[in-house]
Amino acid sequence: MANQHLTDDCLFCKIIRGEIPSCKIAETDKSYCFLDINPLSEGHALVIPKFHAEFLHQVPDDILADMLPLAKKVALASGLDASQYNILQNNGPLAHQVVKHVHFHIIPKPDAKQGLQIGWPQQVISQDDLKTTLGRIKEKL
Ligand code: AMP
Ligand code: ZN
Repeated sequence: MANQHLTDDCLFCKIIRGEIPSCKIAETDKSYCFLDINPLSEGHALVIPKFHAEFLHQVPDDILADMLPLAKKVALASGLDASQYNILQNNGPLAHQVVKHVHFHIIPKPDAKQGLQIGWPQQVISQDDLKTTLGRIKEKL
């Protein structure tokens, strides 16, 4: 399996190896997709790389490039009768990551009550502040 790099003590690595059961939806040689055990809505699925990494930026590009087409395919099927959905990917505990193996959530949004609820605390800032931020980011690229 290309680039396979799994660890012994990770829940999702164990799921990939078949040591812990999962409701597998689909897999490729680089990615694995299964149902979330505590769904936010029916069909809530996870796409994970067959490469142990805690953060998205630690996953090799070829594996990342494999994951989104799989997520796209599953998003159409896992929503069942729902055609709207959220794709969510958390990095770090402050960003709500619990399982330290990269995963994309595919969360069907069948109605206003089920699925992902999002807080969106927008800030109002000046164009000058926006440009200062832009300069700082570009220096770090
Ligand atoms: P996150 O907060 O982004 O780390 O989300 C981790 C997700 O993994 C949660 O939605 C859990 O319900 C899900 N999860 C944890 N253990 C399992 C498992 N054994 N099988 C399927 N999903 C799981
Ligand atoms: Zn892992």
